[in-house]
Amino acid sequence: MSRKIYINSEIVSEENAKVSVLDHGYLYGDGVFEGIRAYNGRVFKLDEHIKRLYQSAKTIMLKIELTPAEMKEAILETIRANELKDAYIRVVISRGIGDLGLDPLKCKNSTLVIIASKISLYDPKFYEEGLKIKTVPTRRNGPEMVNPRIKSLNYLNNIMARIEANLMNSPEAIMLNSEGYVAECTGDNIFIVYDGELITPPITAGILRGIKREVAMQLAEELGLNVKEMLFTRHDLFNAEECFLTGTAAEVIPVVEVDGRQIGSGKPGPYTNNIIEKFRELTQSTGVPIYK
Ligand code: PMP
Repeated sequence: MSRKIYINSEIVSEENAKVSVLDHGYLYGDGVFEGIRAYNGRVFKLDEHIKRLYQSAKTIMLKIELTPAEMKEAILETIRANELKDAYIRVVISRGIGDLGLDPLKCKNSTLVIIASKISLYDPKFYEEGLKIKTVPTRRNGPEMVNPRIKSLNYLNNIMARIEANLMNSPEAIMLNSEGYVAECTGDNIFIVYDGELITPPITAGILRGIKREVAMQLAEELGLNVKEMLFTRHDLFNAEECFLTGTAAEVIPVVEVDGRQIGSGKPGPYTNNIIEKFRELTQSTGVPIYK
């Protein structure tokens, strides 16, 4: 069955979902996006994703034609049109059609596209065995440049890191910030368990404020772990008891080796496994219902 795509207030078949080559999203990567998941007939953390989308748009002065409530309905409608209960949803808002110059004032209306699709999950063996990943040379954009808190269509910084990871046969890439502290991965936030505490880089390290990051922090606190947002180095990472990544696609995924150094026992640690279990319970039982 061909996917049904939402494009500028219409739902059309995939073949008819077309964006102009003069759209500045295409010409300049000028726009913002969100990746959202639905589990078991509910959209997980939908309000949080919508909030982040509007915040990203506000910073880049991109006008979204819909109100947040209308956006929520458009997302649900797109999932319903595709009759999905479990889905990956991509919301993309680009600056719209302009001329060949980069001035956004020439773009009259932003373009909104919503794609709801079946998910291709990470291989389950990664959740049992953990990932072996590497640090890459490309540093994460700093907040003093284009702030990584903006989830923009301009992902070249992360794509460069992903290319380097691919060259090293690493399934994800650890990116450092300009000062050499651990920032995040190309599409995931990073956590370590060190001396029995859960540590993740602060937003000011230059990272995306991941929605699954916030969920993992909350779940860890409920499990009685002390959670700290603190800068750390690769040295801290190598000597951590546990490490895991969070993100919409990856959910919560263990890391057992970094740059050839075994992390902890070399197997997913007990705190990580507990957080994974709680995370799964939460995704299956909460969220905005898709069908009435
Ligand atoms: N960092 C980056 C750079 C990302 O693109 C993402 C989203 N894939 C994340 C972290 C994780 O954010 P979230 O938990 O909201 O998916």
